[in-house]
Amino acid sequence: MTTDPAAPDLPDVPADLTRDSGPTRRAPVVLDLLAAEHPDAEIALDFTTTWELLVATMLSAQSTDVKVNEVTPALFAAYPDAVATAEATLEHLEELIGSLGLFRQKAKNVRRTAQLVVERHDGEVPTTMEDLVALPGVARKTANVVLSNATGEHHGVVVDTHVTRLARRLRFTREETAPRIEQDLMRLFPRERWLDVADLLIFHGRRVCDARRPACADCVVESLCPSSQVDGRTDKARPSTSRRRR
Ligand code: SF4
Repeated sequence: MTTDPAAPDLPDVPADLTRDSGPTRRAPVVLDLLAAEHPDAEIALDFTTTWELLVATMLSAQSTDVKVNEVTPALFAAYPDAVATAEATLEHLEELIGSLGLFRQKAKNVRRTAQLVVERHDGEVPTTMEDLVALPGVARKTANVVLSNATGEHHGVVVDTHVTRLARRLRFTREETAPRIEQDLMRLFPRERWLDVADLLIFHGRRVCDARRPACADCVVESLCPSSQVDGRTDKARPSTSRRRR
């Protein structure tokens, strides 16, 4: 057997650990394997301040990070902070982010959020979950991204479409809604790894575990994945039969 010099050094998998083992035993090993495979896994949005992170995350709803990164340089050059953004006209904000889906609603939310950050928090992005989700256009997922990346405090796990699919395929959860999946992931992993969980599942979902054609044969966690399709297994991320029938 030849060794690929570009292949990452992978952590050992205990001999008795299989795809049929319980999620509690598989989870930390899967995460270590993914961390070795994707050492560059981190948030893909460009930002330099907490305000920029908040805005970029708000803009990323139903838009790709690449698209968001295309519009934010001009947006942040024109409006670098909450104080400046609070004074922006809606027309100009819409013009700057016009290539993104839902840009009118996003422009409205970003400006109103800026005004509230100025009024309630002296222009500084709040650092509690409660204050963040009170801002328009800021759901728990956005707040988790901001808190984890900007303050290093992990209040939850970011659950997006990739995390949902991977967590279900890996059988870390049997739930189908983001809030319930988040609770299962928070129970399964220690708090200090919650940011890694999201970053690694998102990266693996983008690069390997595609929604339609997962590259199971090339997947670093194939031997621990109950949904591996290498030998014709079923995709565990599919909604349950009873729900599909409805
Ligand atoms: S084995 Fe296949 S389904 Fe499982 S995580 Fe890897 S790519 Fe996804």
